[in-house]
Amino acid sequence: MIPKVYTRPEHNISRDQISANALKVLYRLKNEGYEAYLVGGCVRDLLLGREPKDFDVATDASPEQVKQAFRNCRLIGRRFRLAHVFFGRDIIEVATFRGAGDKVQDQRKVDQDGRLLHDNNYGTIEEDAVRRDFTVNALYYNIKDFSIVDYVGGMDDHRAGMMRLIGDPETRYREDPVRMIRLVRFAVKLSFSINPECEKPVFQLADLLANIPAARLHDEALKLFLSGYAVETFEMLRHYGLFAHLYPLAEESLSYEEDGFPRLFIAKALENTDKRIAVGKTIAPYFLISTFLWDAVKNQVEQNTQAGLPESVAFQQAASAVISQQAKHTTLPKYISTAMREVWGLQVRFSRRNGARAFRLLDHPRFRAAYDFLLLRAETGGADEQLAIWWTKFQAVSETEKQKMVSALNKNTPRKRRRKRKPAQQKQKQENE
Ligand code: ATP
Ligand code: MG
Repeated sequence: MIPKVYTRPEHNISRDQISANALKVLYRLKNEGYEAYLVGGCVRDLLLGREPKDFDVATDASPEQVKQAFRNCRLIGRRFRLAHVFFGRDIIEVATFRGAGDKVQDQRKVDQDGRLLHDNNYGTIEEDAVRRDFTVNALYYNIKDFSIVDYVGGMDDHRAGMMRLIGDPETRYREDPVRMIRLVRFAVKLSFSINPECEKPVFQLADLLANIPAARLHDEALKLFLSGYAVETFEMLRHYGLFAHLYPLAEESLSYEEDGFPRLFIAKALENTDKRIAVGKTIAPYFLISTFLWDAVKNQVEQNTQAGLPESVAFQQAASAVISQQAKHTTLPKYISTAMREVWGLQVRFSRRNGARAFRLLDHPRFRAAYDFLLLRAETGGADEQLAIWWTKFQAVSETEKQKMVSALNKNTPRKRRRKRKPAQQKQKQENE
């Protein structure tokens, strides 16, 4: 196949946009007599004038040859070996062109100890291009003459702003169902449309995600929701029936929404995530997942309580059940599940502010996240707004003011008012069901 080659004047990628370390790697390989290209997401993003997340290099040098060319290089991966070239904390990934069907060969070719042999996996640049997922992800920037090499029509699609799978869409989704999720991620992130032929099979094939290991789905899910476009991504995933395979419990709670309430809670959480990312704040993955699963936890607590379990046991068991159910779809590493439990568990403690309780809660390491969670509930009708306001003030004022707030609470919370509040809370509960 003869590729289309876009010479330097025919595209807008200039070397100033390429990281100095990536350039060093490209030039070194070239000077050693190898072919060297930037490939994948970085070329796609550079063409859009965006700063790439990282720079990936493809070459005809074998991993061993790459290692010999760089002192600061380590080979990784078993099934397919990659070279990592280190510059302090910056890593440039260098991959040897990958041949077609390397999976099959990998499974068959083992040495007498069962170790995989890799010698047959490498291929030509053309083979490397066609095994990639989308046409816009298969463009190669050649360091030899600064041209872009295109075997799959990626440049036309890029100009048209269109996501298109390389090859037959259904076959490619069946090969790797995660490509359906990647389709959504890139379409949203790049504001690209989706080629109709590539869109159609997704509705039918979404179920194939059930076969993907939960660990991989967790990694993909984080990329989906933590890259600044969570709201749109969520909408599109639901549209294609993909969200249900990532977070079935959340999908379920969305389907029995009442007055738009549960839906609003998750939507608001996604919106806040995007806002935080937009202003450069950090995002804890557990927070968003804890909002996804909140309704499921509440329902389970209710059931457990009705079955006669004491409150705290009802909660612990509900949290465990929901976490283990979710973990079948996307793994929840211990640090995530522990944090989620804490955030959920602290919710009941916000209304218990008497004596030293409010101060103890404030000192809890997970207070901040739990408070954010409370705000979100209050904003969407799931918690008492006055309570949220009280806690906002409590954090802002001096120690003496804090003391005053708590003692005012102790004095001014006559039985009457407490009694009054109870039915109101129950009513709210019923509304939320
Ligand atoms: P991002 O900016 O989000 O990292 P990316 O395009 O670099 O986007 P990666 O997941 O880093 O995405 O993958 C790098 C490249 O590897 C892709 O551009 C694509 O060419 C190829 N690739 C990744 N995943 C797949 C897949 N599941 N099937 C085929 N090719 C893939
Ligand atoms: Mg990448």
